[in-house]
Amino acid sequence: MKIDLTKIPSGGKEINFSLEPDWWKPDFDEDRVVGLDSPLSTRLKIYPAGEKIVVDGFLSARLLLRCDRCLETYSKGVTTDFRIYLLMFSYKGEAEVELLENDLNLDFIDDNFLDSDQIIKEQLILNLPMKTLCNDDCKGLCPLCGCNLNTARCSCQSRYEALGNVS
Ligand SMILES: [Zn+2]
Ligand SMILES: [Zn+2]
Repeated sequence: MKIDLTKIPSGGKEINFSLEPDWWKPDFDEDRVVGLDSPLSTRLKIYPAGEKIVVDGFLSARLLLRCDRCLETYSKGVTTDFRIYLLMFSYKGEAEVELLENDLNLDFIDDNFLDSDQIIKEQLILNLPMKTLCNDDCKGLCPLCGCNLNTARCSCQSRYEALGNVS
């Protein structure tokens, strides 16, 4: 959704909406995320603060993630609050930009529209764990035959040991 920032009243504006699972497109550059497992709900409160515009957001979703070890898909809930500062391109003076460069949560907007899809996607990715694991004890795939060791048994390990490997 594109939100026209020039139409935000001085008292701010609150938007609540939900996104259906088909909203997540695989071309979003994070291939550990397979998609959404249920509709995502979000609340954005947008209000001006001096030259900046503040976005206070909340979102709640269930993601379908790919396990780093066994490559199976699993579902994980993500709930997060966030705050982003926006500076509209046309407003920025040179001195100001230097001052604000340290602000990690600052995004520049080069037209007058805020793309809520972009913000939500970024927040979801920021909230992914370093490693996506279906379970902390996930046994992963057998390095020899590739079977999923959580659900299958193979004799590779014992055969390997029988060959006299001492590690
Ligand atoms: Zn796994
Ligand atoms: Zn095996």
